Amino acid sequence: MEINISNLKKSFGYQVVLDNLNLYVKGVHSIVIIGPSGGGKSTLLRILAGLEIPENGMITINNKKMSKDEKELHNYRKTIGVVFQAFNLFPHLSAMKNITLPLEKVHNLNKKKASTRAKTLLNKFKLGEHAHKYPSQLSGGQQQRVAIARAVALDSQFLLLDEPTSALDPALTSEVLDSILELKREKKDLILVTHEMGFAKNVADYIVFVDSGKVIESGKAIDIFSNPKTPQLKEFLSKTLKH
Ligand code: ADP
Ligand code: MG
Repeated sequence: MEINISNLKKSFGYQVVLDNLNLYVKGVHSIVIIGPSGGGKSTLLRILAGLEIPENGMITINNKKMSKDEKELHNYRKTIGVVFQAFNLFPHLSAMKNITLPLEKVHNLNKKKASTRAKTLLNKFKLGEHAHKYPSQLSGGQQQRVAIARAVALDSQFLLLDEPTSALDPALTSEVLDSILELKREKKDLILVTHEMGFAKNVADYIVFVDSGKVIESGKAIDIFSNPKTPQLKEFLSKTLKH
């Protein structure tokens, strides 16, 4: 994918959360955003998802300029898959229905097609035997894999994931990380926020370090982890790699 973000600005009230953020990345499939809590990572992802409108700045993704018009954003949102930290499954629907409902309602697939696609994906993410269960009957890791399956079901080339494992214990985390690595093998375009540095190293073609609403440093994963340049990134890595 090719992404060009220039002078992106977003405030909530008086608080400037994204402060003229700039980023240009080309020719990579997976971008991993890292950085301290409160730095603006989720806000950036929500803007890229079309869920938040910036006050200022321009974003082009694969040479297409992102609109700031609510109607156009509504259509744009249908073309990307999004997975958030807190799963966001419909609690009153089975795993299966969580996947088929958006396919039927938003993407106008007929019941049969939606159900075939959902079954294939549930099997792929090792959830075949859990298809009939409600979210409350699934473990956190299983719920998050349903959320990933749902995002992938839309068959979008482009997936955004915001700390998909942060609510999970380590055993469940690795199941979800495996599912994400599988998407990488399929050459989906991923933009992912994670605090799992080992995983970031594994999955990232490109790392973006965001702090105080700016991209402080970015580059290939090997360079970023072996040779961080800015004091902010050095400090962040020395803190997070200790744990
Ligand atoms: P990160 O994901 O890096 O932890 P966020 O983008 O979630 O950072 O948040 C950056 C800052 O913006 C935080 O100080 C947060 O409190 C603030 N913020 C985020 N969303 C909102 C919102 N909807 N309303 C008010 N403040 C917000
Ligand atoms: Mg966040």
